[in-house]
Amino acid sequence: MHIVILGNGISGITAARHIRQHSDNEITVVSAESDHFFSRTDLMYLYMGKKKIKDIKPFPDKFWKENRIDLINGLVTHADLVRKTLHLNDDTSLSFDKLIIAVGSRPNKAGWPGQDLDGVHGLYSLQDLDAMERHSKGLKRAVIVGGGLLGVEMAEMFHSRKIPVTFLVRESSYYDMVLPSEESALVTRRIREQGIDLRLETELREIWGDRSGKVKMVFTSKGEKIECGYVGITTGIRPNIDFLHFTPLKYERGILVNENLETSIPGVYAVGSCAQMRDPKPGREAIETRWLAGGNMGETAAHNILASSAQQPPIPYDPGIWFHSAKFFGISYQACGEAGTGQDNLYWEHPDGHKSIRIAFHPDQGKVAGFIFMGLSFSREICEKWIREGVHIEEVLLKLRTVETDGSFSRKHESAMIQLYNAQTGKNLREAPRSGLAKAFGFLK
Ligand SMILES: Cc1cc2nc3c(=O)[nH]c(=O)nc-3n(C[C@H](O)[C@H](O)[C@H](O)COP(=O)(O)OP(=O)(O)OC[C@H]3O[C@@H](n4cnc5c(N)ncnc54)[C@H](O)[C@@H]3O)c2cc1C
Repeated sequence: MHIVILGNGISGITAARHIRQHSDNEITVVSAESDHFFSRTDLMYLYMGKKKIKDIKPFPDKFWKENRIDLINGLVTHADLVRKTLHLNDDTSLSFDKLIIAVGSRPNKAGWPGQDLDGVHGLYSLQDLDAMERHSKGLKRAVIVGGGLLGVEMAEMFHSRKIPVTFLVRESSYYDMVLPSEESALVTRRIREQGIDLRLETELREIWGDRSGKVKMVFTSKGEKIECGYVGITTGIRPNIDFLHFTPLKYERGILVNENLETSIPGVYAVGSCAQMRDPKPGREAIETRWLAGGNMGETAAHNILASSAQQPPIPYDPGIWFHSAKFFGISYQACGEAGTGQDNLYWEHPDGHKSIRIAFHPDQGKVAGFIFMGLSFSREICEKWIREGVHIEEVLLKLRTVETDGSFSRKHESAMIQLYNAQTGKNLREAPRSGLAKAFGFLK
């Protein structure tokens, strides 16, 4: 059986690896962006000079040959899903028995006048990074539009090269459509502390260019004119599925898949950020645009392709406990489970204003439901286990310090959190006693 995987991102490559691990099928991966799989989440470090391309490739180049995974660097322009053939931009074609579509996403532009000028780019691919690189020399100012994770990454990238940045954000506080107000305020402060010209409640209206077609200025919803040589568009992404528009495949925003990640066409699967679940689990997005979700989907689709040819039942995609991590100008962010509305929330912030912990718990039974950590790192596995097992908030508070992974959450901070909890709930929780040895030698933080 020849299995073709379209897209060499985390979802497609995880599928390829799992198929190889469990079968001898012929595997071909086609992708237009790069010869080899790389970690997209590390793109910013290439521009910032902290890593080289070889450092962000999880597998050595010889891995693919050794594992008999054929790689084609090419763009699929048309898919004939009935005849099971893909057509590439170099006029070659490729036939398949089973297909996994893992084509990811691309930056979304909202149709602004001037959005196709030279110097207007998103942040998604290696080619976007090349564009940033090309325009950076002598750049006097970059304007970034869109207050999500990609916007702040792009701001940090330009900032690392001392290029002044104006950051236009529609909301009244950075990323407040996702972060609770306290964390959003913390990151907003952090962005401003770096000297970024953050303009809230401000939208892009128009981009103007010079005679050579190069960006020269933007106009905002507040009537301001800002001179700049680069406009970074980070207002969201959309699945990369235009080439599938004239096929019988069913899609909406993404390619529609059932719980086994099968599309409307037998033998064709879709995974990663181009796939849209027909029936997402309650509280989960229909399109998951996270690294871990891509890997989990790739593994599930691989299993189900092999199961179908062995006439075994498929397994449904399990999105697991929601987890996301990122960095905002050096402040790490980790969110796990449901840490928003609908539960009681305990929020503690470090006096330095750069670290915080939020624990959400069920008001009646006290079971933990979710965590948000800013500037502090805790064991993801243990936090997920606590959520899965419904461990009581008080037990979590007494153990939290033991699962911190970078040593900045001290006993003093633990006491402060317990005091906050007692004040908020009227309880009388006491700190775990220090062991005699620890007391004697004072080696507890
Ligand atoms: C800068 C950046 C930082 C990020 N940071 C985080 C993070 O910290 N945490 C997190 O969870 N997520 C993060 N993400 C999101 C995460 O990287 C994506 O969700 C994930 O990479 C999606 O993987 P994928 O396999 O679905 O698709 P992609 O990685 O998009 O790969 C799809 C590949 O298919 C190729 N392709 C598309 N169409 C065709 C075609 N017609 N023919 C041939 N090839 C084609 C594309 O060129 C691309 O190489 C980040 C994303 C970016 C851009």
